[in-house]
Amino acid sequence: MKQTHHGEMIVLASNNAGKVREIGQLLAGARIQIAPQREYGVGEVEETGLSFVENALIKARHAAQISGLPAIADDSGIEVDALHGAPGIYSARYAGVGASDEANLIKLLADLNGVPEAERSARFQCVLVYLRHAADPMPLICQGTWEGRILAAPRGAHGFGYDPIFWVPTHGCSSAELDPALKNQLSHRGLALRQLRAALE
Ligand code: IMP
Repeated sequence: MKQTHHGEMIVLASNNAGKVREIGQLLAGARIQIAPQREYGVGEVEETGLSFVENALIKARHAAQISGLPAIADDSGIEVDALHGAPGIYSARYAGVGASDEANLIKLLADLNGVPEAERSARFQCVLVYLRHAADPMPLICQGTWEGRILAAPRGAHGFGYDPIFWVPTHGCSSAELDPALKNQLSHRGLALRQLRAALE
């Protein structure tokens, strides 16, 4: 088991490079160490839940079970009001299982073709779950929401997923145009992670 003087090792139940990067930045300097699940031989698990919190629990429990370590999972996605909340928990597989970020984003733009700006409201949702062990009956659950709007075309090169088409009204740019540190301050994941970090410390 990897253990360093920085503190307890926690497995991160994700192989999504964008999430792993953001979570690593947000927990930098914390009294804990995070390792992506693949470093412990943990593969993907089927996300059979019907809500972000259920899917986050499934992923964290799976990672804790296989690694024998505490685990953190992030389940997140984007809700679009004009689509009655879709893609929601299906954000990563909107254009089909295994679809690329780009294919998902193109499908969302196509679905919203012709929808006027005022009706393109949307929000990112993030649920983070921390389990001390696979059978932990009292998971730590934190959540964050980030309000914005779906653009008509992509802008910006930072971030991942739907960032190039997510307009951030408070800053007048897309979330892929934000400096990564600023995105972490504003985002659904940033909000949830600051709560989690405070609770863990
Ligand atoms: P999950 O890995 O099943 O939780 O899927 C999350 C999906 O939601 C990702 O694949 C992204 O498409 C999208 N998503 C979540 N957070 C963000 C974000 O911060 N920026 C852009 N897209 C995001």
